[in-house]
Amino acid sequence: MTSFRSNSYNVVICGAGPAGLMAAYQLGKLTGCGGRILILDKKEPWKEPIFCAEAVSTHRLNSLWPIDESWVRGSISGIYFTSPKGYKAEFFSKDCGRLLDRSKFHHAIADACVEAGVECRFDALVKCISRDGDGWNLKVQVDGEMFSLTTRAFIDASGPGCRLTRGISCIEGLETGDTDLEPGIFAIAEGIPHDRDHIELLYGSEFEGGYGWIFPRDGKEVNVGFVLSKDAKPGMPLREKLKHFIATHYPGASVKAIYGGMIACGQSKKPLAKCGLFKAGDAASCVNPMSRSGIVEALLSGKITAEAVHEWLDAADDSARARIEASVLDRWMAALGKSHLQIAKAKPGLAKIKDEQFDKAAKRLSRLPREKQTLLRIFFAVLWSCPSVIWKMRSFLH
Ligand SMILES: Cc1cc2nc3c(=O)[nH]c(=O)nc-3n(C[C@H](O)[C@H](O)[C@H](O)COP(=O)(O)OP(=O)(O)OC[C@H]3O[C@@H](n4cnc5c(N)ncnc54)[C@H](O)[C@@H]3O)c2cc1C
Repeated sequence: MTSFRSNSYNVVICGAGPAGLMAAYQLGKLTGCGGRILILDKKEPWKEPIFCAEAVSTHRLNSLWPIDESWVRGSISGIYFTSPKGYKAEFFSKDCGRLLDRSKFHHAIADACVEAGVECRFDALVKCISRDGDGWNLKVQVDGEMFSLTTRAFIDASGPGCRLTRGISCIEGLETGDTDLEPGIFAIAEGIPHDRDHIELLYGSEFEGGYGWIFPRDGKEVNVGFVLSKDAKPGMPLREKLKHFIATHYPGASVKAIYGGMIACGQSKKPLAKCGLFKAGDAASCVNPMSRSGIVEALLSGKITAEAVHEWLDAADDSARARIEASVLDRWMAALGKSHLQIAKAKPGLAKIKDEQFDKAAKRLSRLPREKQTLLRIFFAVLWSCPSVIWKMRSFLH
């Protein structure tokens, strides 16, 4: 099937990741089945691989999308913070996080979109957009065939660093989804010792201002990888660096596949909507700058955007619409953006912590009994050596 239900929509959403799917679902619900809402993606959102380590906070996810165990790989009851020499501090909190099967999770939200009356096309590449009267014109490619669609509002949820919305004069100054763009890479591997209900975060100069991770998958496999700061100079291709890291630290491991992607890990104060064009998720640089988690953040950003777009569709005139557009940044700031700005300010400090300091702090913490290693206690226990390490990472599961 290549043709669309219509060539004119109220809202078109580009990108069926968590941000776009959530925005589409919310708009479907808010506008009713006749809302003429279309979501487009160049691939099916459940198509593997999905470039992600798939860890989320249980309660933050649950507050946005009720958890269904059918799309969960496992539960997390803690984090090991591991220093360069291998000292481990443990934060234990029963059922604090989940490891998702994002493919199945996306499928579940996409199904809900269809039920909410949203037209879903997961075979459609948005080639370019342009301003068209009061709305937007889209050139969309399906199976080599080009379609021209118009829409009153356009939501860009196309992920980090998207070029679709660049160079359009009426939206100049809008967030471009590339604030602190950092490289992340991971392998699906077996033979790496790990705890099935803990994630492990690894620190040290090896990660050049970022961190490494080992996240369990099915008891045998893990997702092992790292994110580096945007200024990192790894001196070799990331793929080689990851292979070298695994071979050095886990000589018994076998690597099944390696994937990588970029993460927009900074928070800007640039507007998130102008002239009926709205940005959501990674395209709006909504990732937590320190933990680099972006799934729940994208869901929340999609929801906030959908609520604003719904009001915008009903607004009486241009000035009311402009006010709503300006309010999107305020809404995001009130929800998470302000705390992301603070975290972003603290981030360069983490890059300066020396390997010895990480070792000292983790060694000290590892001596505390587990039940005493609450985030608060951990914080005070390391206060004298490097207080920032764990405190800054609490956002992962908080
Ligand atoms: C290596 C790595 C590990 C990560 N680990 C975690 C983690 O453990 N926990 C966590 O919370 N976050 C993690 N993240 C971040 C998380 O994956 C993102 O923040 C999240 O996916 C953002 O969702 P989104 O909907 O904004 O964008 P995306 O999920 O990137 O979705 C964008 C969609 O837009 C589509 N698209 C793009 N351009 C077009 C176009 N022109 N036409 C049609 N479709 C288009 C793409 O196909 C894609 O499906 C990780 C990221 C990386 C790179």
